[in-house]
Amino acid sequence: MNVLMAAPEAFPYAKTGGLADAAGALAAELAKMDHHVRLVMPFYRTVKERFPAMDCGRPFEVKIGERIIAGNLYRHENAIFIGCDQLYDRPDLYGTSSGDYADNAVRFIFFSRGVFEAARLCGFKPDIIHCHDWQTGLVPVYLKKIYGADPFFSGTKSVFTIHNMGYQGVFRAETLPLSGLPPGIFNPEGLEFYGKMNFLKAGTVWADIITTVSPTYAGQIQTPEYGFGLDGVLRNRADRLRGIINGIDDCLWNPARDRYIPGNYSAGKIMPGKGICKKRLSSLCGFKDPARPLVSFVGRLSHQKGSDLAAAVAGEAVAEGVDLMFLGKGDDLYQRELAALAEKYPESLCVRIGFDEEFSHLVYAGSDIFLMPSRYEPCGLGQMIALRYGTPPVATGTGGISDTVRNYLPLSGAGTGFLFGETTPGALRQSLWYALCVYRGGNRWRGIVRNAMAEDFSWRKSAARYVEVYGEAMGQASGG
Ligand code: ADP
Repeated sequence: MNVLMAAPEAFPYAKTGGLADAAGALAAELAKMDHHVRLVMPFYRTVKERFPAMDCGRPFEVKIGERIIAGNLYRHENAIFIGCDQLYDRPDLYGTSSGDYADNAVRFIFFSRGVFEAARLCGFKPDIIHCHDWQTGLVPVYLKKIYGADPFFSGTKSVFTIHNMGYQGVFRAETLPLSGLPPGIFNPEGLEFYGKMNFLKAGTVWADIITTVSPTYAGQIQTPEYGFGLDGVLRNRADRLRGIINGIDDCLWNPARDRYIPGNYSAGKIMPGKGICKKRLSSLCGFKDPARPLVSFVGRLSHQKGSDLAAAVAGEAVAEGVDLMFLGKGDDLYQRELAALAEKYPESLCVRIGFDEEFSHLVYAGSDIFLMPSRYEPCGLGQMIALRYGTPPVATGTGGISDTVRNYLPLSGAGTGFLFGETTPGALRQSLWYALCVYRGGNRWRGIVRNAMAEDFSWRKSAARYVEVYGEAMGQASGG
């Protein structure tokens, strides 16, 4: 099967979150299964500076309203990059800490059309274009309304994966003429969203199959609480909606081989490796006593991830004898809140603001407990990585977390973590206190750690599910 993986970010090229991990790992896993895969993404500055991509010498042009914007293609291994310096040669992918880039609509209209140009110019005839998130939401519409008429794409179907309903790409109605799409689709059944143009809605309405990143989230997004205004659209397309859990890259995230941690370990032999990691982390954080339980948080500092809930219980946790480590980057408000806590508790609370992939390995490995108090979580990778590193999570039982973490059952000793329901400081506190109690009990804790490390979160199963879904999409008749 020929799969064109169109993603706004993909590991190892550019990453702001789990989408990059998913797109990169899925592309690699499909290639291992002997499918022909090309990853297509923008030629961001970070890619340009870090990878020796080759200029394909295939210039193309896209008409954006009255402007003609020129692009070029670059190639690195199985990835094709859409180059256009005026749009992508910038310090960040989507914006700075003060907000999104003002021309994001143009940037991703250009990218979405560039996906088709890249396929044509590289002679890669896709059976499936697999698009990810709002940035590629127009691709399914372009396929149905414009490019499908080209014999080159006559057999092509689209699969659209929603990684997070909270980010929809909503722009002024005046954006539509820039896209070159027919004005007739600007209505509530199409891509209009309360008088504006919604890219994520476009993908949801026109994709042959829609997927999201966990079975639980696939159900949740059809409800007003989690649908962010698109729950009705998703209910209408429920017969085309599938939930497939993400995997993690088990070569990259493997405590037995991880070169970013000072002690390697495996489910069969956890000590002394994990203990060495904890000592290193504890000392880097400036903690005084590595015997204290070390509880950590890694993630975007946003309302969604609930870092504020963790901050709300931090004082009491420290008083309970816990050391706390936060690694994150995000909203100013939450960054300031955590920085103030670090000043207040310099000996037992450490905050690192920034995105530090390498250091995150040590945090996952060197911690005893992983905190993930997300208000909602489409899939979540943090909890899976933590489990693989023998660091049981204390986490909200929502979305993909409830599909991947098994709540601890004291009688049988089964389970891999501690789930709570309400996203309140009280519920988090109760769950954390319970986990600490079991941790201090010793033996039972070691059982949970072993259970956690025995879980299989490899991409093999998930990639096989995607192949089934591609097959379903290809079996469908073309429609309007
Ligand atoms: P998101 O909603 O942000 O995509 P996920 O849990 O799906 O959340 O994925 C987050 C990924 O990004 C994980 O691999 C996590 O380890 C990583 N990550 C998040 N914040 C940081 C950070 N500040 N430094 C390093 N890695 C981070």
